[in-house]
Amino acid sequence: MLVDRSQIPPEGLDLEVHEEPRWEGVEGLWLSLAPVEAVFHLERKGNGVLANGTFTTTAVVMCSRCSEPVSVPVSDQFTILYAGASEAFRAEESELSAAEMDVDVMQGDRLDLSRLLRENVLLNLPLQPLCRAECRGLCPRCGINLNESSCQCRVQENDPRLLPLQHLS
Ligand SMILES: [Zn+2]
Ligand SMILES: [Zn+2]
Repeated sequence: MLVDRSQIPPEGLDLEVHEEPRWEGVEGLWLSLAPVEAVFHLERKGNGVLANGTFTTTAVVMCSRCSEPVSVPVSDQFTILYAGASEAFRAEESELSAAEMDVDVMQGDRLDLSRLLRENVLLNLPLQPLCRAECRGLCPRCGINLNESSCQCRVQENDPRLLPLQHLS
């Protein structure tokens, strides 16, 4: 979704956005992603735009231990100053950016809210998602899912009580 800077009135613009995430460059990052619900407040700032807002969605990703699908809520708030091209450098230096604010450069006179949401969803994906805190993962030897069943691999390798028995067989 694109918003032209000239559409933003002096008092600012409030928008509710329902974004279907048909984005490029995100292949393999999730099994599925629900539509992103977002609220924006946009204000003109110099030759640029200050964007405040929040978003929420749900991603289905693979558990980093057992590879089973796991549904994770993804949400955050953001404050991003899209500076006019000539102002970008000064904005980086200003005290505005020293406070919790990201600075980006305006592409022409339009703000790409889809790109903003895509970047913020990517930033908030869990790095090592788990289906549950105590997920036991897969056996590194036979690949069985240890949450669902058990295997004999560890017993054979590590249990010293069984060593004498092995001599008998
Ligand atoms: Zn798991
Ligand atoms: Zn095993």
